[in-house]
Amino acid sequence: MPSEFEIIARYFTRGTSHTVLGVGDDGALIAPTPGQELVISTDLLVEGTHFLSDADPEALGWKTLAVNISDMAAMGAQPRWALLAITLPGFSEAAAVHPTAGFAQPAGYAGAEQCSAKPLLRPTPTSDWIEAFARGFFACADSHGVDLIGGDTTRGPRAFCVTILGEVPAGKALRRDGAQAGDSIWISGKPGRAALGLAHLQGRTKLAEPALSECLAALHRPQPRVALGLALRGIASAAIDISDGLLADLGHILEQSGRAARLQIRNLPAAGLARDCLLAGGDDYELLFTAAAALDRDIMALAAKLELPLTRIGEIVAGPPGELVLRDADGSVITPARRGYDHFL
Ligand code: ADP
Ligand code: MG
Repeated sequence: MPSEFEIIARYFTRGTSHTVLGVGDDGALIAPTPGQELVISTDLLVEGTHFLSDADPEALGWKTLAVNISDMAAMGAQPRWALLAITLPGFSEAAAVHPTAGFAQPAGYAGAEQCSAKPLLRPTPTSDWIEAFARGFFACADSHGVDLIGGDTTRGPRAFCVTILGEVPAGKALRRDGAQAGDSIWISGKPGRAALGLAHLQGRTKLAEPALSECLAALHRPQPRVALGLALRGIASAAIDISDGLLADLGHILEQSGRAARLQIRNLPAAGLARDCLLAGGDDYELLFTAAAALDRDIMALAAKLELPLTRIGEIVAGPPGELVLRDADGSVITPARRGYDHFL
């Protein structure tokens, strides 16, 4: 088994492009750009809660960083630096996978790929596994210009925690508390696909191509909407990334902004399970944002420029904070069974 330092040196030490001092010292040194504020966020992925023990390691490496970059996008920040803390139960040089019976999943979690109907295998991390994880992680880092500048590596149940730092011009961050009555509510992309992909893996639905590939890509390789977040500086009044579910995440904006919302889902036709996934699925990492209605045309133009669908799904109103009225295409009020995922409910 390689030592902690060999693991760090072999898999997690690479050149940096905009860092004073990276991996290898007691701390990293960065020089923030003058006039910018630092945006800092952290996200933890735990085996059995966020990913299955047989998850594809390259996709897991990608997603571990992508969900953090998504938080930068939702703040309108340029992602710049990341730290990676990992715990591994042990490590073998062999490439073989050793199934171990009896590994239990926590009951009731439905937010990611953790409840697939596949047999539960517990592969011992191997050099192949960790190398593939690092490959996926750095592919995501490269696609967004992020330097890995440090972390921690210890023994424990398999878990990955990224801390990410980004930059935004002072005062320009997209926050959750700025939505105003009269603002339009927008979402990017096609939320719900990750949850539909998961439902397929769990045998709760059967998707056909090309929807299947699209939904599995959304689940395993989410694309953080950084270009959109940057373009929304000075345009959006509030923004959030959809990690827990569209309704749940919109609820955070409403509560923090002290406003209510009226939603029409005629622009996003979906029925049955697809509708539940759209409204409460999460895990897609699309952006939900609000902007003055006077900017509707600019936002349509932005969608064309970014080649990313942007759909207007409703408006902010001056009602009781957090109140959300959802109407179907025919105008009738819909009461969704759930709004999203909560780890402790
Ligand atoms: P210390 O004992 O001083 O905290 P460590 O032995 O934990 O230092 O780490 C040595 C160096 O390797 C540090 O620069 C740390 O940031 C970095 N590092 C440790 N684990 C990782 C990792 N998984 N990815 C990137 N850098 C790491
Ligand atoms: Mg340390």
